[in-house]
Amino acid sequence: MDTQLKNLLDYNIEELESIVKAMGQPAFRTKQLWEWLYKGADFSEMTNLPEKFRSSLAENYRSGKLGVKAKLCSKEDDTVKYLFSLGDGNLVESVLMKYKYGYSACVSTQVGCKMGCTFCASTKAGFVRNLTSGEILGQIVTMNADMNIRIGHVVLMGIGEPLDNYDNVLDFLKKAQSEKGLGISYRNISLSTCGLAEKVIKLADEKLPITLSISLHSPFDEQRSDMMPVNRKYPLDKLFDACNIYTLSTGRRITYEYALIEGVNDTKEHAAKLISLLKGSLCHVNLIPVNKVEGTGYEKASKKNIAAFKEMLEKGGVNATVRRTLGQDIEAACGQLRRAAESDSAQ
Ligand code: SAH
Repeated sequence: MDTQLKNLLDYNIEELESIVKAMGQPAFRTKQLWEWLYKGADFSEMTNLPEKFRSSLAENYRSGKLGVKAKLCSKEDDTVKYLFSLGDGNLVESVLMKYKYGYSACVSTQVGCKMGCTFCASTKAGFVRNLTSGEILGQIVTMNADMNIRIGHVVLMGIGEPLDNYDNVLDFLKKAQSEKGLGISYRNISLSTCGLAEKVIKLADEKLPITLSISLHSPFDEQRSDMMPVNRKYPLDKLFDACNIYTLSTGRRITYEYALIEGVNDTKEHAAKLISLLKGSLCHVNLIPVNKVEGTGYEKASKKNIAAFKEMLEKGGVNATVRRTLGQDIEAACGQLRRAAESDSAQ
């Protein structure tokens, strides 16, 4: 494993052009190389490029295609979970889901996470580093190549906090949307955040028509601070102010993610408070039966409570859906596979 190799997917087309030029190749090779990179090809597969050019590329660069360390296919549905190894040997997870409208990928933005949410598997072993834009793209191009498909929807809901890696994530969004890149419309991209309010305001300024998801999980400041330490810095009033700015600036409806945990945040009082906070704003609540993560002590809310919670929100004028859980048999909830692999290698 050579950590000195630079990832070609980290460059934009002008930068790639100067690399190609500096290697004494004609300009048209840039387009050929660029197309291969976005197809998730290895240098050995780039058959219309001269062999010498390919071998000198390989001395200094990697193609951006990631190593597949593990791949789990659900027997219950078409969900596939990947454990990818990055150039430096760090591991991240991605999940591929098949819907009626096509393929959707859930990708990671960091190795580990600093945010410390009590219910989340991704944060347990701490934070290692940010992913580069090329490493985020790499997850998509590798899945496209591996399955011979074209992913049309992306959710930034894998390992990490996307807004804590703002510049690389923004660069990723632009390359993913660009016709020369992956050509995925902004409307088909969702970014999920635990609530870094200042960065939400910064993102609002970019005016990208992506969907913003906010991981809410409790409508009470005290409880949310216990579950999600980020709430101490950005309490609910600051977060909602930022969300209002986002909606005003982009015209986009915000999704609030709410993982229902038995006896913790699934009561009538929680639903009533949530209604008082959200009623009248352009939003939608996505209710998720919490995924059990060892060591958290949290259990899924009962089906009865989930249905009652949803009904209460709707009667109170707040739009709500219950998220369909996919890939249950392969622990498709992010963070769990990497956590298992890291503790295996630590033994
Ligand atoms: N850091 C970002 C994105 C990664 S988490 C964020 O916080 O939004 C993606 C989503 O999964 C978030 O809504 C997160 O709160 C949720 N999540 C994390 N652990 C979970 C669990 N055990 N059960 C259900 N949802 C969980």
